[in-house]
Amino acid sequence: MTPIATVQRKKTLHDIPSAELAGKRVIVRVDFNVPMNGAAITDDTRIRAALETITYLIKHQAKIILLSHLGRPKGTVQEALRLTPIARHLSTLLNQRVLKSDDCIGPEVEAAILHLKNGEIILLENTRFHLEETDNNSDFAKKLAQLGDLFINDAFGVSHRADASTSGIPNYLPAIAGFLVEKELSVLTQVLNAPERPLVIIIGGAKISSKFGVLQNILGRVDTLIIGGGMSFTLLKAQGYEIGKSLYEADLLEDAKTFLENAKKSTTKLILPLDHIVVATFDNASPQQTVDTENIPNDQMGVDVGPKTIAAIQTEIKTAKTIVWNGPLGVFEMDNFANGTLEVAQMLAKSDAFTLIGGGDSATAIAKANVTDQMSYISTGGGATLEFLEGKQLPGITSLQNWESPE
Ligand code: AMP
Repeated sequence: MTPIATVQRKKTLHDIPSAELAGKRVIVRVDFNVPMNGAAITDDTRIRAALETITYLIKHQAKIILLSHLGRPKGTVQEALRLTPIARHLSTLLNQRVLKSDDCIGPEVEAAILHLKNGEIILLENTRFHLEETDNNSDFAKKLAQLGDLFINDAFGVSHRADASTSGIPNYLPAIAGFLVEKELSVLTQVLNAPERPLVIIIGGAKISSKFGVLQNILGRVDTLIIGGGMSFTLLKAQGYEIGKSLYEADLLEDAKTFLENAKKSTTKLILPLDHIVVATFDNASPQQTVDTENIPNDQMGVDVGPKTIAAIQTEIKTAKTIVWNGPLGVFEMDNFANGTLEVAQMLAKSDAFTLIGGGDSATAIAKANVTDQMSYISTGGGATLEFLEGKQLPGITSLQNWESPE
């Protein structure tokens, strides 16, 4: 079977003799784009995910320069999006001082780095305070690159973006993958190119348009594809069912029909919802009923999968050896419509299969179900993981140096 994504093996921090790191100015692009409530970090998973690379660099006495974005300031300085609370939290996690600059380029940053001692860390200010970051401006990338001797990308979650701090800097500095990026790439490649079978992929979420590329790319490569959530309704409509007021993307109806035809011809078993929880208004308190797919009332919308669908998913999960999950099966943010999503989370927790959670909402659902520790691997990438599943090249990865055999 053709590989789902051909990824040239990249040079990583493991490939650099550790003795060479001492005294080197190492720029690490991390993904510290964490959810915040005022100055409080509400989930520090992304910060913790970068610790392995950072502690390794401390141990080997590099001068560590961290770069990250936070939120979408769109080229303006926004006090609420400064990285100061993140520097403080990182300092607590590492039990070590973390310096913080008020910008990510300029003379003050250069002076601070000049005084950085081996094993010390500085977190530079939000890269997106400069519009040049998301424009992937080459002068800006060059200015960032001049701050270091080596570049490490450890921000898997933004590797699908061609920003100055992800794919721009590698034009001016030797660039390699950090431990997190290495791990993400190795797990995703292994699971998708040489999985233990049966391989079951569960895809949910709101709109089919955002995941259509993935659906098309995995057809014929996975043993069972289960589609739920709002995105399933465009496919059900394409099959001729009445879907009432459920989410629907009319412009994708013809593509959906083609997809269903292709699915029939492929080796992949496609499972769409058999029944639904439906309500008249998009409101947690709205009275609900359970109906089969052929009986969705005109004035109702599907907000969760029903018990027959959950049972069908259970049957697939029981025999699966590898399960990938991306996207909720209902409006799981509302407690009354979260049942299908939480049930699937519990099934994955009980399964002996290798379970890969594709970031974003699924990771949130897993946490809500209290089973995070029972998953084999939770990707830190939402969009990046999806684009990888889609077979796309990720600019923040392709820009890194290729691995070369030592012989
Ligand atoms: P995505 O970002 O595409 O993964 O979509 C996640 C969103 O899909 C969540 O906010 C869910 O509330 C939403 N969602 C899942 N199922 C449905 C549904 N049946 N109707 C409307 N929204 C849904």
